[in-house]
Amino acid sequence: MNPSEEELKREITRVTRTLYQRGLINALEGNVSARIPGKDEFWITPSQVFKGDLKAGDLIKMNLRGEVLEGALKPSIEWRMHSAIYIARSDVNAVVHAHNPLVLALSLLGRELKNTLTLESALLGRVGRVGFKLPGSGELAEAVAEMARAGVKAIVLDRHGVVGLGATLVEAEAIVESLESLALIEYICYSLGEEPRGIPGGVLESLWKFLDSTSRNRG
Ligand SMILES: [Zn+2]
Repeated sequence: MNPSEEELKREITRVTRTLYQRGLINALEGNVSARIPGKDEFWITPSQVFKGDLKAGDLIKMNLRGEVLEGALKPSIEWRMHSAIYIARSDVNAVVHAHNPLVLALSLLGRELKNTLTLESALLGRVGRVGFKLPGSGELAEAVAEMARAGVKAIVLDRHGVVGLGATLVEAEAIVESLESLALIEYICYSLGEEPRGIPGGVLESLWKFLDSTSRNRG
């Protein structure tokens, strides 16, 4: 059953608080949104409000043309990126953007995330990369939408952060957190002076098939 708008709003604030508590965003950073089922509208976090204690009443409702429909605060400056993703992908109902420190550190050194952990790598699939674009810009929104159209659900933004695209808020949240888990494991390997080993070819493909079949069995 589809979540109600009140449930979606509560879940957006929970995800945003979690990002703050996990150190994936600072006080005024990050943004989270969820599409309202069956509508060309979404709820999104506000700009310039402390993200560690966000309330449902702080959120803003917008349509995919960028018009504010409800809410007293200013929407996140990244609303264009969220809107562009929803336009590009009808299967995406939630978008989470954070500033994952370990992912960014490895990215700054040109070290691409490897498929090292089975479940995290299976969830992420191919990780997309977007070169430097100004935060909040139409260019950033267009570059991310292009990745989304290519079927990617985990994206690293150069010198900025990451974006997770999910069918649900918890999936988009898990994508952002899994990116940081992979980066943490790699960071530890490099700190110990070793190159992390990737998963052998074929294992991920088998896991995708297995997960696919179990999700079908669960109906
Ligand atoms: Zn950002």
